[in-house]
Parts: sequence; C-alpha cells; structure tokens
Amino acid sequence: MLPSVDAVLRAPEGLVLIDMFGRAATTDAIRGSLAGLRDQRNFAASLSVTIGLAADHLARLFAPGQRPVFNLTGTVLHTNLGRAPIPPEAAQAAAAAMSQATSLEFDLATGKRGQRDTSVAELLCRLTGAEAATIVNNNAAAVLLMLNTLAKGREVAVSRGELIEIGGAFRIPDVMESAGAKLREVGTTNRTHARDFRAAFGPELAAIMHVHQANYAITGFTASVAPADLAAIARDGNVPMLDDLGSGSLVDLSRWGLPRERTPQDSLADGADLVSFSGDKLLGGPQAGLIVGRADLIRRLDANPMKRALRLDKGRLAALEVVLRLYLDPDRLAARLPSLRLLTRTEADIAATAARIRPALAAAFPTLLAEIAPCSSQIGSGALPVDVLPSCAVTLTGSGLDAAAAWLRACPRPVIGRIADSRLWLDCRCLEPLDESDFWTNLHHPTTP
Ligand SMILES: *Cc1c(COP(=O)(O)O)cnc(C)c1O
Repeated sequence: MLPSVDAVLRAPEGLVLIDMFGRAATTDAIRGSLAGLRDQRNFAASLSVTIGLAADHLARLFAPGQRPVFNLTGTVLHTNLGRAPIPPEAAQAAAAAMSQATSLEFDLATGKRGQRDTSVAELLCRLTGAEAATIVNNNAAAVLLMLNTLAKGREVAVSRGELIEIGGAFRIPDVMESAGAKLREVGTTNRTHARDFRAAFGPELAAIMHVHQANYAITGFTASVAPADLAAIARDGNVPMLDDLGSGSLVDLSRWGLPRERTPQDSLADGADLVSFSGDKLLGGPQAGLIVGRADLIRRLDANPMKRALRLDKGRLAALEVVLRLYLDPDRLAARLPSLRLLTRTEADIAATAARIRPALAAAFPTLLAEIAPCSSQIGSGALPVDVLPSCAVTLTGSGLDAAAAWLRACPRPVIGRIADSRLWLDCRCLEPLDESDFWTNLHHPTTP
C-alpha cells in the first residue's frame, strides 16, 4: 500500500520539505511522486522512497535556471555566458533601484514628471561629444528603432559586404524587414564603391546605413566605402547616415595595448548622424542599446511609440549610469571596469593563476595530464574578430575529455572550458586571483570524476 499524501506531509521529512519549499509545491510534488509510483505499479514503495522522489522533484523545480559559472573559454565577452561582468557597485546600484521606489521619471526639483533617460543620456553626450542620446533594451533594439523611425516604408542603402548575421536571429536584412524598411542592397560582397551608393539616390531613399563587420573579416580583393565618405555621400543625398557600431568602446583601447576599435566619437567625427552600440560588449556595462547623435533625430526616436516598448528598466539604467561614470576617470578605468581589467591582464599574471590552479585540476583528474600551455583569448561579441590576446591555460590531456568537461560543468559553480586539438583548454584569463580559492573549493564537490 502506498502512503497517503497526508501521511507523507505529516512525516518529519515532509515537514522539512514544507519548510523549505512551501506547502503547495510540496503537496504537488508528493502527489506527482505517488502518481508516478502507481503508474509503475510500484505499490510497495515506502514513505521514504516517496519523499525522496518528491524532494528530487522539488530540488529541480527550485534550482535556478541561470547560475554563475567560471568562464574559462578564453572569450571574455561571451554572449552565451552573459557578456560583460559589471562592476559590483553597478550591480548594487541596480539592486537598490529595483528593490525600491526611485526618481526614475520624477523631477525632484520641480516635483513634476521627469525623463527616465536624462542622466544616462547626459553622461553619454559628455563622453562622446554627441548632441543627444537615447537608450533602449539592446543594440538590436537600437537598430530597429532607428530604422522604424527614419525609414519605415522607404529604402535604406547598405553595402552587400555588411549584410551580416551576428548570431542568434539577428540578421541585418531581417531586422530591416521587421522595422518596416526596405533594404536597398548596394555593391557586391567583396567590393562596394561610392558610385554604388550614389546610384541608390532617389525619393525612396530614407537613409544610408553602415554596419560594423562583426564576427568576420573580408580579405583579398576588396573595396569598401570609408564611413567618412559614406557620411559625405549621405549629406549629398540629403539623408541621414546611421552607423551600427556593434561593440563600440568609449575609449581608445590602444592606450592599454589592445587593438584599436572604432569608437562612437570616431563615428561622429566621421559625420555619422546617429551611432548605435551595445552596453554589454566592450563598454563593459549591462545589456543596453545606446544611440548618440543629432538632437533632431534623437527627438524623433524618443517620440516613436516603439521607444516605449524598447526602453530600459530602472535597474539597468542605474547600473549603466555607474559604469558610464567610471569613464570620467580613464586613468583608473582598467582597474575598476571588470571587462577591461580582464582584457588587459598580462600573460605573466594569467600564467601565475594557471600555475596556482593546476594542482587542483591534477588532483581532480588523476588519470589525465594537467599542463600549463600558452593560448590565445578572444575579446568576443563580434569585436575585432581577427585579433587575439596572448593568454595562458591549464590543459587536460588523456582519454575521457568529454566526461571531464561534463564533470566540470556539473560543479556547484560550473566551469566552462573548450575542447580543441585533443585537449580540454581552461583559459585562465577570466579567473581573477580573488576567485582562485573559490575555484579550488568548487572542484571539491561530492561527485568524483
Ligand atoms: C552585437 C551587434 C548587434 C546586436 O547588439 P545586441 O546588443 O546584442 O542587441 C548589432 N550590430 C552589430 C554590428 C553588433 O556587433
């Protein structure tokens, strides 16, 4: 005879489950376990078997879907791993804003309704020299809003060399269509000239768009129109030039010996009318889409009802504000902004981390060979696809690498590496010294390899 739901609920272990997960979920889980046992015609199952099944079910139900991981992939701004880690003070500002009432759209001086984007927009203008700025959910939303506002039902000229897919479902031609704009393809995949853009002039043309070539590089017999020339052509055609920068760092990264990436400032200096870029790529902030440029155009974007649907929430606005303020002090930026700190770590510093954690990995995988090996990290998120950063990894070699990778993913804080050339690579760039002891204890979880 199977126990009754009531008997299970009243048992001491049942009371523990109620305490942990609440009566409703526990009752559901017990009903589910009993139904499962009945389906298997297992009528002799004991009370403790029933409770065990219910506890498993509850543990799965209450396990967080999104968990912190150790990113040892070597890709710093890894889209699948949540891109830029934001500074703790930015995360605290977000938590404070989200858990309380704030002056989000309230002007404390006048006691009247205010604008939600004001302080972030002012910071963006100060940092980029732009006339005006607006903020939306992500850069995909920024592109959508620019096109829908300025080119709905009309044409936007884009070079065929820039009709890119960024990953997931973001393809420039598809975004264009969703925005209600008509794509006017210009030039060829490898070569596009100024005359190709001029040939697109006409009453239907609403804008010329330049798209940063994320994730790939075209080499060989190529020609493209430089953004400054594109802006001049757009002026001749009396249409705005929109520049989708993608990653867009707010500072010249060569200052830290990193490859130079076009900044919004460069783009504005080239004559772009609107520039869009992501908040969580090289900028190192929370997910957001930032648009800077001409005040008259920004006003039109803000007046589009779609802006309301794409706007940023108060938590991320608060975090973004903190991150942007760090840019007011470039001298200390590399120490304070986690993404930049990770990108600027020296190979020697990373090698020291690798040397310190190697014994922990050797002990966790006694049948595999754990070695230190030089490797190359990537910036990620479509930035500078051809540039790599010298780094250092602990590599595991031997049989059963897939199982080792799976075991690492099953740690309390999953460890994510990558398998290549018959080795499991654990690039130590994103394991900072302060996290090393956590990494160490994390490997000592109960299930052994
Ligand atoms: C990443 C990227 C986007 C999309 O930005 P999200 O912030 O991911 O929405 C659009 N265009 C380019 C060129 C990009 O690199």
